[in-house]
Amino acid sequence: MSRTRVVIVGAGFAGYRAARILNRTARRHVEVVLLNPTDYFLYLPLLPQVAAGILEPRRVSVSLTGTLPHAKLVLGEAQRVDLSSRTVHFTDPEDRPGELSYDMLILSVGSVNRLLPIPGVAEHAHGFRGLPEALYLRDHVVRQLELAAHASDPAERQARATFVVVGAGYTGTEVAAQGAMFADAVVRGEQAGERVSPRWLLLDIADRVLPELDERLSRTADRVLRKRGVDVRTGMSVKEATRDGVLLQDGEFVPTRSLVWCVGVRPDPLVDDLGLDTERGRLVVDSFLNVPGHPEVFAAGDAAAVPDLTRPGEFTPMTAQHAWRQGKTAARNVSARLGLAAEPRPYEHHDLGFAVDLGGVQGAANPLGASLSGPLAGAVTRGYHLMAMPGNRVRVGADWLLEAALPRQAVQLGMVRSGSVPLDTASPELARVPRTDRPGD
Ligand SMILES: Cc1cc2nc3c(=O)[nH]c(=O)nc-3n(C[C@H](O)[C@H](O)[C@H](O)COP(=O)(O)OP(=O)(O)OC[C@H]3O[C@@H](n4cnc5c(N)ncnc54)[C@H](O)[C@@H]3O)c2cc1C
Repeated sequence: MSRTRVVIVGAGFAGYRAARILNRTARRHVEVVLLNPTDYFLYLPLLPQVAAGILEPRRVSVSLTGTLPHAKLVLGEAQRVDLSSRTVHFTDPEDRPGELSYDMLILSVGSVNRLLPIPGVAEHAHGFRGLPEALYLRDHVVRQLELAAHASDPAERQARATFVVVGAGYTGTEVAAQGAMFADAVVRGEQAGERVSPRWLLLDIADRVLPELDERLSRTADRVLRKRGVDVRTGMSVKEATRDGVLLQDGEFVPTRSLVWCVGVRPDPLVDDLGLDTERGRLVVDSFLNVPGHPEVFAAGDAAAVPDLTRPGEFTPMTAQHAWRQGKTAARNVSARLGLAAEPRPYEHHDLGFAVDLGGVQGAANPLGASLSGPLAGAVTRGYHLMAMPGNRVRVGADWLLEAALPRQAVQLGMVRSGSVPLDTASPELARVPRTDRPGD
């Protein structure tokens, strides 16, 4: 019996969920083909814990073939979608071109780092979107602190021990909160050299940290960050980045070798090239996640501008919570279009709140509108992640127990070099060819 081929481009929150549901509910009638650059689903919300040496990288990577036994995985990155011939053109990990024809298509390619036209940022900053960047940052922090301990010049010592994070959304806030704890742990473990005092700065142009979330979460996060010694500067941005430091908007020059760029994301450029309607770079879909004029094309997650039926006139925010649920709706509506499910359903989801892990036992969360802080929020946040992860739960739990009982391992393996994780890479997993490494690394 010939099966209808559904190609899913991108196996993140939305694509992975869609594949899982189609696999479970429609595999007799549907051939699910998943095109993704890597053979794993990446649980992005725990990436700051990888950078902070709490979780091993494999803990946040869930095997696609291991958990989707009936889907066909094609390793590669879509370069172009030809809507008229219903073909996805891609390149595989060895840069060979390939083609996939489809009957139905789900586009779930997520988002990429957002660059701002600030001199020097593209050359001297690193983003935080994938495993290579998290591993790079972990090694880089250790390396800078080790070099600082043995630097004879006090100015160089302080510059190497200074870390600047730009963007105080949930990514930047968690990176700074976890990073400050990690740096302190590294310094505590150093036996030789000068005593180093790590300094972390967190900048945002907005007037509070976590500007897109509930104000009570902002207040909690701000308090924890400052208590931990993070220099939080709101209403502040970067004017220029150089090899030796960062020039702030108010004219202050902060000597540093570390600039982490977390100013947000924009949808994957693949969407722009489709020649379809977009809304701030996201592909316009109707409330059934269907692309108008193309009954065979659906989109979900960060890459799609999905009308938010709970807030008329707005689009759903770019969060894992929405992407995961939209994956389910996309799968269901594809099935409905193929006559395998009843009526298609519109996507409607009331936000369940947000949870921010601030490291140690600290967190900030507002599940179902209840504002939590301190160890309770920390426990709720970790409990939420354990429930939300589609695999590796025992391993993640085991790493957390080890973290509570043992000192962190602060060694730099040096496997990801600066040039392998340039800020302007659309898809960091594919950035395997190193550019010239940054001097000073
Ligand atoms: C560090 C970090 C922490 C976060 N923390 C939270 C959090 O705590 N809570 C929360 O709600 N949200 C969080 N987010 C945001 C959340 O992760 C995203 O909103 C969510 O991942 C979007 O899901 P998606 O399926 O649209 O895209 P993604 O999960 O990003 O998946 C996209 C997939 O498409 C693949 N892909 C990209 N381009 C191509 C191509 N051309 N061809 C084939 N495949 C391609 C990618 O490799 C990836 O596998 C965080 C994001 C980051 C970066």
